[in-house]
Amino acid sequence: MADHTYWITTFGCQMNKADSERMAGILETMGYRQGVAEAEADLVLYNTCTIRDNAEQKVYSYLGRQAIRKRQNPNLTLVVAGCVAQQEGAALLRRVPELDLVMGPQHANRLETLLNQVGNGQQVLATDENHILEDITTARRESELCAWVNVIYGCNERCTYCVVPAVRGQEQSRLPAAIRTEIESLAAKGYKEITLLGQNIDAYGRDLPGITPEGRRQHTLTDLLHHIHDVEGIERIRFATSHPRYFTERLIEACANLSKVCEHFHVPFQSGDDELLKAMARGYNIGRYRRIVEQIRSRMPHAAISADAIVGFPGESNAQFRNTLALVDEIGFDLVNTAAYSPRPHTPAANWPNQVPEAEKVARLQELNALVEKKARQSGERYLGRCEEVLVEGINPKNPQQLMGRTRTNRLTFFEARGHQVGSTVAVKIEAVRPFSLSGSAIAKAALVP
Ligand code: SAM
Ligand code: SF4
Repeated sequence: MADHTYWITTFGCQMNKADSERMAGILETMGYRQGVAEAEADLVLYNTCTIRDNAEQKVYSYLGRQAIRKRQNPNLTLVVAGCVAQQEGAALLRRVPELDLVMGPQHANRLETLLNQVGNGQQVLATDENHILEDITTARRESELCAWVNVIYGCNERCTYCVVPAVRGQEQSRLPAAIRTEIESLAAKGYKEITLLGQNIDAYGRDLPGITPEGRRQHTLTDLLHHIHDVEGIERIRFATSHPRYFTERLIEACANLSKVCEHFHVPFQSGDDELLKAMARGYNIGRYRRIVEQIRSRMPHAAISADAIVGFPGESNAQFRNTLALVDEIGFDLVNTAAYSPRPHTPAANWPNQVPEAEKVARLQELNALVEKKARQSGERYLGRCEEVLVEGINPKNPQQLMGRTRTNRLTFFEARGHQVGSTVAVKIEAVRPFSLSGSAIAKAALVP
């Protein structure tokens, strides 16, 4: 494959981005180079998302232009990976016969084998339930400092709106030793920050055998954090996404005690209304959600808390929507990723008769977004005058005089570059707050407030 180039476009969540990095790594070990333009690449791969309909439709419009290219250039290899591939399977091959390979997310680590089959002249469909091979590939990571590390694939929950279990399959946890080995090799390459990834990270280990003498599961996220914490060279550890049903006090305690674990928690609440949470089959109520936030804040008062929320879930009344607004107002999140409910195939709620009209969903989304932004600005004010530890990730693309990085609480922060290096941690005194970013001046590290 010398002189062959590839182009990957990734849609959707961090999990997809991590899968794309591994697939890029596989392509490079096969001899492909990253192309400079999609229109010239020899292999085009779309790693797709089906969480909402608009994400799915985008893929079809991208595919249309590649199908035209393929008709003119039969040597082009055209691949659809990820969640649309899994959801649509053979239907996708029928709809876009120019495709060479349709592969679900569980097959990401098998890309080389699948491409070899394509090389033998086959059109390949890989969407069967698959035990995910241990990641023996070398991911080609976007960042040279911050890396995602998958620790659990799939999801066994059955939230009534969500397509993820249908497309990503059963939970499969990686063994702690394999995770630690990957993190050690990242540290050896100079990585400073890792984010452990799982659709429901709190489920980590529940499919692994072992019970402790005290009668609890041997492998949990808390135990994993302890297991990897002393990897030399890694300075920051994050994890996502947390599920309020399974988030434990023991985990909060570990986060407070383990110095590398950053004070940022992404805990989606989805709705501020107990009845809707029940209809969503989320398995907690708002009382429990509040207690989690209180426990986090009592142990880590400066922690950032972010979340996901859906508006316009079937049956959501105006009063129930107001409960979501009230929760956002009360908690003062640093960030909330919001979405209008989108009916998805193979999910129960899609077939319910009490769907909320589109115009109402849009109006609610706008109202919620305005509140989220206002609250993010307000919660950002707590940073004013504080000294924050910033891990420098690069130069501000909009102002080359400035460096940018993130606080431990994950706020993007800009400051004047005065000889500081990418990869170093710098103490920055915060002087200005925007809704989702900060700026300030570098100061001596001793000024950091613990
Ligand atoms: N596992 C995480 C959890 O339990 O919160 C989130 C995974 S999902 C990839 C990311 C977000 O997409 C969800 O938190 C939810 O807010 C949103 N989402 C999922 N299905 C949706 C749907 N049918 N319509 C709108 N938003 C949806
Ligand atoms: Fe989807 Fe629920 Fe699983 Fe999250 S926990 S991925 S929302 S089914």
